[in-house]
Amino acid sequence: SLQGKTAVITGSNSGIGLGVARELAKQGAHVVLNSFTDRDEDHALAAEIAAEFGVDAKYVAADMSKGEDCRRLISESGACDILINNAGIQHVAPIQDFPTAKWDAIIAINLTSAFHTTAAALEGMREKGWGRVINIASAHGLTASPYKSAYVAAKHGIVGMTKVVALETAQEPITANAICPGYVLTPLVESQIPETMKEYDMDRETVIKEVLLKRQPSKEFATTEQLGGTAAFLCSDAAAQITGTTISVDGGWTAL
Ligand code: NAD
Repeated sequence: SLQGKTAVITGSNSGIGLGVARELAKQGAHVVLNSFTDRDEDHALAAEIAAEFGVDAKYVAADMSKGEDCRRLISESGACDILINNAGIQHVAPIQDFPTAKWDAIIAINLTSAFHTTAAALEGMREKGWGRVINIASAHGLTASPYKSAYVAAKHGIVGMTKVVALETAQEPITANAICPGYVLTPLVESQIPETMKEYDMDRETVIKEVLLKRQPSKEFATTEQLGGTAAFLCSDAAAQITGTTISVDGGWTAL
C-alpha cells in the first residue's frame, strides 16, 4: 500500500496523468494533480479522487513550460515521495517545416520540466529516505517515427535523464525509471480519429487498426489503468532494485 505517501503527477487533469493519479490514490497515496489551467473543474477532479479513495488530493495550477512553475509545483505540494513526470504535448511536421516555437515548447514541457521537478523533489525524498521518480516517456523514447522530431528528441532525452538520476541516487532508497507507452486512447489520441477518417476515407475501426495501431502488434490500445498499475508496481517493494531502466507498455511495438 502507498498509504502516507504523496504522489505529484504533472499534467494530470486528463488522460494518462489522471489515470495514474487515480490508480495511486486507489493504492492509498495522497495525490497532487496539475496542469496549467486553474478552473473549477480542475479542482473538482481532485475533490472527486479524495472522496472516492479517502485520500488527500489537491490540484496545483503550474505551467510545466516554465522552470519556476515546475519548482513551485513541488514546493506547493508540501510533500513529494512519488514524482510522476507526465505532462506532454505533440506536434507533427517535417523537420524543415517544424515551427521553432513548437520545438521549444515540446522540449520545455516534455523534457526540461522533468529536470526542474526532479531537481526540486530529490531533497525531500532524501530527507524521508524513500522516493520514486517515474517519467512517462513513450515508445518514441526508444524508437522513432517521421515528422515527430521534437517529440522523439524529448522522449529519448527523458530516457537518458532517467538513467542519470538513477545513477545519482543508486545508493539511496530512491529509484528512477521511465514507462514507455505505445498508443493509449486518451482525449489527445481520440481527437485525431475524425480527421484521420476523413484524410484516409476509412471508418473508425479501420483508422484505429490500420493507422493508429499500425505499429502496435497487439492491435489494442494500452489503457490509462494499465499505466497506473505499472507506476504502482514501480512504487512497490518488489521494484526497489529496478532503477535506471524503461518498462514498455506498448503491445509489442518495440519488439518489431
Ligand atoms: P493528454 O493531452 O490527455 O494529457 C497531457 C496532460 O499534460 C494534460 O493534463 C495537459 O493539461 C497537460 N499539459 C499540457 N501542457 C502543459 C503545461 N504547459 N503545463 C502543465 N501541464 C500541461 O495526453 P496523454 O496522452 O495523457 O499524454 C500524457 C503523457 O503520456 C505525455 O507525456 C505523452 O507524451 C505520453 N504518451 C502518450 C501516449 C498516448 O498514446 N496517449 C503514448 C505515449 C506517451
